[in-house]
Amino acid sequence: MNKKETELKPEDFNTHIRPTWCLGCGNYGIWNAMKRALVTLGLKNHQVLAVYGIGCSGNGTNFTKTYAFHSLHGRSLPVATGAKLANHKLNVIVMAGDGDGAGIGGNHFMHTCRRNIDITFIMHDNRIYGLTTGQASPTSDQGFKSKSTPKGVLEEPVNPIALALSSGATFVARGFSGQVKHLSGLMVEAIKHNGFSFVDVLQPCVTFNKKNTYEWYRDRVYKLEDEPDYKSDDLMQAFEKSQQKDKIPIGIFYKIDKPTYEDGLKQIERKPLVDHVISDVDINKLLNEYF
Ligand code: SF4
Repeated sequence: MNKKETELKPEDFNTHIRPTWCLGCGNYGIWNAMKRALVTLGLKNHQVLAVYGIGCSGNGTNFTKTYAFHSLHGRSLPVATGAKLANHKLNVIVMAGDGDGAGIGGNHFMHTCRRNIDITFIMHDNRIYGLTTGQASPTSDQGFKSKSTPKGVLEEPVNPIALALSSGATFVARGFSGQVKHLSGLMVEAIKHNGFSFVDVLQPCVTFNKKNTYEWYRDRVYKLEDEPDYKSDDLMQAFEKSQQKDKIPIGIFYKIDKPTYEDGLKQIERKPLVDHVISDVDINKLLNEYF
């Protein structure tokens, strides 16, 4: 590869549209971490497909210069799966919120984990529905007061890390949008991982979530890599860490190698589906069976 071609800077992934997120929103940290990660990996704009869900994070479709698809609410993972199967040489990254990943798309999340398809899911986890102006989300803390829960959330929140681990994900990590360098490093490892990789990003919504603020997270987060006895291939240890609430671990919880979904598909063994010549294929025979 021509060296000059790989020397992109983070700003080369900006479009001419400036972000419209509220000043101080955690989305900025995630956006910057992602652009840095793409540069670190030497990826060019056309080598990446970012699939966005609905929500404030979804507006990133307009601000980031890669191939992009703004999918339906909760359907970002199936769209990404389809795109990856059509062209498995593409780096496919899903950027979606906790509503998309743990709420309406929770079922897709579970099945993408067990399928181990080689895509990366960055969950913008602000524990609230920001775009629709502040309703409780599936990851909101128990007791959290919002316009949809004025007396406080009754249920236990979904734990995205524990859910990913129990569903068979082969790379599970958590980052904090207030620590961009560390988060970017996690994204690099997630994208490099051969199989489904999941990064839960703790992301303050400065406008509607007045509880889980930057200060609140800064008082609680610590890095798993600073724990000398932590082994990221130990599932039980990962589960134990996923349950911690007083202090919040960030870093790689779990990482193992396993065959990917694509490894089992003979059809794409030699080349991606998009590279197959189909001009001489006559589908009339097949259609006639149905009409
Ligand atoms: S509403 Fe919240 S999540 Fe949405 S842009 Fe504003 S701060 Fe960010």
